[in-house]
Amino acid sequence: MKRYSIYEGKYPREIVLLKSFPCEFKGCAFCDSAHEHTKNEGEIVKVAAEEFSKITGVYRRLEVLNSASFFDFPVQVWHMLKDVVEGRGIEELMVEANWNYRKRFKEITSFFNCKIRIKVGIETFDHKIRKEVLKKDIEFSGPKEVIKYTDSIKLLIGMKGQTQKSIRHDISIALSYFDYISVNLVTKNRKTSSKHDKDLIEWFKEEYKDLQIVPGVEVIQQNIDVGVGRQSLFQ
Ligand code: SF4
Repeated sequence: MKRYSIYEGKYPREIVLLKSFPCEFKGCAFCDSAHEHTKNEGEIVKVAAEEFSKITGVYRRLEVLNSASFFDFPVQVWHMLKDVVEGRGIEELMVEANWNYRKRFKEITSFFNCKIRIKVGIETFDHKIRKEVLKKDIEFSGPKEVIKYTDSIKLLIGMKGQTQKSIRHDISIALSYFDYISVNLVTKNRKTSSKHDKDLIEWFKEEYKDLQIVPGVEVIQQNIDVGVGRQSLFQ
C-alpha cells in the first residue's frame, strides 16, 4: 500500500493516505475500504507519524486522505497534523468529509491555521440514483444547499444504473456551482466488479475528454492515479 506521494497534477501537492477509525456511514455500494479501518488508535497514530515524517512542504499544499471522513481520525492525529502544517509551511490543506458531518466542518477550518478545502462525496445530484444505485445515505435539496458548506465536491461516474443523461446533468451542475470538482471513475473492487459500467465509462472518457483541462476539475481515472493506494486486483 503506497501512502505518500507527490502529485504533480493541476493542484500540485503532497498526498498522504492514512488509516482511521471505521466510517460511521457504511453501506455505499461502491466503497470497499474496510481494510483501511481499525479501532486500534495506536495503529492509526503510528501510520500517521510515519507518513507525516515524509512531508517536506514542497508545494505548500497537502492532501490528507483516509477511507472515511476527517472526523474519523483520533484527536491526536489532528494535533500531529497541525504541527506538520505549521512546521512545513503548508498553506492549503485538502481533506475529505462525509456530508453528514457538514455542521462540524467549521471545527476543521478553525483548528488549522491555513486554507482548508473540504472535499465532500456528493457522487451525483440525482437523488434516486444516489440512494438506490450508489446506496449512499446522504440528503440535501440540491447544489445551493451544498455550496453553503463546501465549494469542493466529488462525483462518481460509471456504476450500472447511472446514465449518460444523469452524468451530463451532474457535470453541468458541478461546473456551475463549485470551485473544485473531483470526478472519480469507478474503480473495480470487491464491491463494484459486477456493477462497473465499462461502456458508460468509455462514453464519458470520449464525451468529456476536455474536462481534465477545465480549471478546478480533476478527473481521477483510477484511485492509484494520485500515487497512493494500491492497484486494483480486478480488471
Ligand atoms: S463512501 Fe464514504 S460514507 Fe460511504 S461507506 Fe465509504 S467511507 Fe463511508
